[in-house]
Amino acid sequence: MSKYTIVIHGGAGTILKQDLTDEKELAYKTALEVALNSGYALLEKGGSAVEAVLTATMSLENNILFNAGKGSVFAKDGSQEMDASIMEGKHLMAGAVCAVRNIRNPVELAYTIMTQSQHVMMTGQGAYDFAKLYGINTEPDEYFYSEFRHTQWKQMQDSEETALDHNVLIKDSASVKTTADNKKFGTVGAAALDIHGNIAAATSTGGMTNKQFGRVGDSPIIGAGTYANNKTCAISCTGHGEPFIRAVTAYDVSCLMEYKGLSLEEAMRIVVHDKLMKINGEGGMIGVDAKGNAAMIFNSDGMYRAIRSSAGQNETAIYK
Ligand code: ASP
Repeated sequence: MSKYTIVIHGGAGTILKQDLTDEKELAYKTALEVALNSGYALLEKGGSAVEAVLTATMSLENNILFNAGKGSVFAKDGSQEMDASIMEGKHLMAGAVCAVRNIRNPVELAYTIMTQSQHVMMTGQGAYDFAKLYGINTEPDEYFYSEFRHTQWKQMQDSEETALDHNVLIKDSASVKTTADNKKFGTVGAAALDIHGNIAAATSTGGMTNKQFGRVGDSPIIGAGTYANNKTCAISCTGHGEPFIRAVTAYDVSCLMEYKGLSLEEAMRIVVHDKLMKINGEGGMIGVDAKGNAAMIFNSDGMYRAIRSSAGQNETAIYK
C-alpha cells in the first residue's frame, strides 16, 4: 500500500497548560482535528498532497482561534493584512500572496496564482483584483474581526512595539510592554504526502500585531516559511518571521537533506534548535518527506500541531 501522511500546525510559542482552560484546549484540539481530517479524507481517496494542504489550511483560516484568515491580527493602522503561500514538490510550482486584505482564504488565492497565472507572488490591490477575476471569495472587514485581537492591538496602538499573536500585554503608565516569556505565534500551515509520492506544503498568517502596514513576514516567502521538493521535503514554518526570513529556514532543511544526506528530522532539528536559536528565531515547523516520514519540531514551549498517516499515526498535541 502506498503511504500518505498529513501534518498541520496552528502556531507555536509560549503555550502553557496553565494558561489554557479545559474548554479552550478542547476548542483548539477540535479545530486541529477537523482541519487534519479534512485533508486526510482527500488523501485517503487518492487526492493530491496539494489539495490536502489547501483544504486543511483553509479549514484553519476559517477558524477564529487562529491568526490567519478570519481572526487575523491587526496592523498599526488597524487594518488586517494577510500573507500566505503554497508549493508542490513535483514540478516546484508555487504561489504566494502578501499584505492582502478582505480575502476570505488567502491560501486559496495563493493556490490560484500557482495554478492560473504565470507568476509566483502577488501583493496588495493587484492580488485583490486577480482574486475578483477568479471568483475567490472576499469578505467585509467585520468578517475578520475578533474581540481578543482587537483589544490586543488597542493596547499597543500608540507604541512602536509589535507583538506576536496572543502576546500578553502589561501596560504601565509610560509605555506598553510585551512579556517576553509569553509569545505565541498563531500562523497556520500543513504539509502532506499523497499516494502518488508527491509532497506539498502551505502556510497562512495575519502576521504580527501592530506591524507596520506593508510588513511582510516569512509565511508567504518561498524558501523561508514554506518549501516543497519531492527530492527532499515539504515544510511549513511558524514563529518570529524576521529571523525565519534571514535563516531561509524551510529551504535550509531541504539543503541539509539534499547536500548533507541528513534525514528529515535531523535536518529540522539542526535548523530549529541550532541555526534559528543562534539568531533568536523562536518558533517551529512541520514537515514530511516523500518516503512517508513526518516531524513536528519547535524550540518554544508549545506548538498547536497534529499528524495523521496511513501507517497509523494519529496525534494531536499542544504542549512540549
Ligand atoms: N511567522 C509569522 C510572521 O512572522 C508569525 C507566526 O508564525 O505566527 O508573520
